Amino acid sequence: EKWKYEIAPWVWHYQGSAMPDPSINLEKAVILVLVRNSELVDIMNSVKQLENRYNHKYHYPYIFLNDVPFAKDFMDQITLATDSNITFSLIPSEHWSIPQSVDINQAKIGQEILNAKGISYAKSMSYRKMCRFNSGFFYKHPLLSELDFYWRLEPNVDFFCDLTYDPFKLMKQQDKKYSFVIILKELIQTIPTLWDHTLNFIKMNNIPISGKLLNMLVDSQGKYNLCHFWSNFEIASLKWFQSKEYNEYFDYLDSTGNFFYERWGDAPIHTLAAGLFLQKKDILFMNDIGYRHDNFARWPATNSSLKHNPKCQIPNLINNANNRKNPNEKIKLKNFDFNKYSCLNVWNTFEHDPLDWKYEAA
Ligand code: GDP
Ligand code: MN
Repeated sequence: EKWKYEIAPWVWHYQGSAMPDPSINLEKAVILVLVRNSELVDIMNSVKQLENRYNHKYHYPYIFLNDVPFAKDFMDQITLATDSNITFSLIPSEHWSIPQSVDINQAKIGQEILNAKGISYAKSMSYRKMCRFNSGFFYKHPLLSELDFYWRLEPNVDFFCDLTYDPFKLMKQQDKKYSFVIILKELIQTIPTLWDHTLNFIKMNNIPISGKLLNMLVDSQGKYNLCHFWSNFEIASLKWFQSKEYNEYFDYLDSTGNFFYERWGDAPIHTLAAGLFLQKKDILFMNDIGYRHDNFARWPATNSSLKHNPKCQIPNLINNANNRKNPNEKIKLKNFDFNKYSCLNVWNTFEHDPLDWKYEAA
């Protein structure tokens, strides 16, 4: 019997048909998917591509999380996309909520301000709960407590290149805590006070920042340069997210209520936390991964002629994710690494100088 229903409260397990390859030593790692029932087709696309490009060799298990129970049909369909073991579970309601201390009226005012500026998800409460969950709760889920690494997978992404090695193994061997494929500038309207709060946190707790990645994230005026690792793709250390220091930072940020008054994303928070506590050497740029999310894509290339890398198949055109009225409209695909809004150049040229930066707390 492949299905084991409710092996614990709200935990469903499916035993995949894959046989472990005895010559491969797997890490304690999982592919982690937060998704809605309504996104079945889009997450099937992501799982299928991840399997084809990489996981069919390793059969890392999947953990699917949701704030409401997964539909039986959703779970059945997902089992057709991978041979790996799959666990479906529910997020504890206290991990997907609005803290008591948040003033809902003030939150509504903040939503209107963002809406007037045309910012996406401006009025969405669920988007804010999602960002808060991905900032401070996903790694607290009981199913993740014994694991070392996760690979975050979102609906409707593409993987363009075969991966011929195990990135979890690379993370382990090189003692990396975090890895990324796209680094770009955040919309300042969504995080107007995040930098000032981060400076307060540094000051209150005497966080030693010399030699830390934070020096890459400040501009010449001592302000956040808005560069952040795009967290819809992430391979990272659970132990790092579970650490006391990360959680003290998250708890402080959460206490400000600004997941709701503003629209803080988990990506700049993960990045600033890496800035506070990690060094460049703790972070891996996964250059071999070709990836698309929305209209942003990148693949390994020193110039566009390397589109002919035999491990990668790069489409010329993609569907325009920004055209909600006509999602089949095609646009030309460009490598975001060479876009002026990419921070890859900031990353590539950053060599930390501990004496480089003096901050002024606001
Ligand atoms: P974007 O990438 O910032 O445009 O946001 P997405 O809509 O892709 O959401 C980010 C991730 O959170 C995706 O994996 C979504 O499936 C998931 N997600 C967003 N909102 C919800 C929600 O209300 N419930 C659940 N279960 N997942 C959500
Ligand atoms: Mn997304």
